[in-house]
Amino acid sequence: MQVQVLGCSGGIGAGLKTTCLGVDESILIDAGTGLELLSAERMLQLRHLFITHAHLDHICCLPLMLPTIFERMQQPLKIYASSVVIEALKAHIFNWTIWPDYTQIPGSSSDLLQFVEIEAGTTVELGCIRVTALEVNHPTPTLGYLMQSDEGAIAFSGDTTTAPQFWQTVSQVDGLQHLLIDVSFPSDQQQVADASGHYSPAALLQDLQSWPDEVAKPVLHISHLKPGFEEAVMDECYELFKGWDVRRLASGDRLIVE
Ligand SMILES: [Zn+2]
Ligand SMILES: [Zn+2]
Repeated sequence: MQVQVLGCSGGIGAGLKTTCLGVDESILIDAGTGLELLSAERMLQLRHLFITHAHLDHICCLPLMLPTIFERMQQPLKIYASSVVIEALKAHIFNWTIWPDYTQIPGSSSDLLQFVEIEAGTTVELGCIRVTALEVNHPTPTLGYLMQSDEGAIAFSGDTTTAPQFWQTVSQVDGLQHLLIDVSFPSDQQQVADASGHYSPAALLQDLQSWPDEVAKPVLHISHLKPGFEEAVMDECYELFKGWDVRRLASGDRLIVE
């Protein structure tokens, strides 16, 4: 299993793309601006899109991708998300005002886009990869995702603030090698972090302390850094997270479990 980081920033700008992770050839987690790094041919290989939540930085390139590939799609694209996210996409994006409803375009097959409702705890089996939705805490209903193969596992928090239940779950996963976690703001911006539902390093430290001593620690990849705060956040993470292999996640990274 290989995760290709297409985008993982909390904003845009030169070299910065918002959240989008490719998992092998056919699976995508979120459809932020990182999606535009894929060629149309690669977009056509996608079969499964898992959405963490409906915030724009995680879905904006889903509508934009469709006119690129829709007429050439031979197989359906399944879009897995919570009922709240699916309703939001239908009501606020695919409503003919913001964007066409691609399930209703005359002459096209209505099954090419298939919305699949999932919730925390749901596992979807996709060949040798299993994707499980995880409960996290953000101002709108949000899911993290755990990707498992026979070789090991990778977990992604999506957008979240303090979420003890997430840590309890991932610390029990056999062979967890990489953990991608949202730390958007430095600790001196705690009020903004709390209001927007993201971790600061100080808040994350509290949850990291629940990690059982006897369980091997995965590599901790810091994601969703807000532009302008990257160095401040990373300096704190390196300083505070003793005993963890801490890295800054970047577009272009490839995380391989084998
Ligand atoms: Zn969000
Ligand atoms: Zn976000």
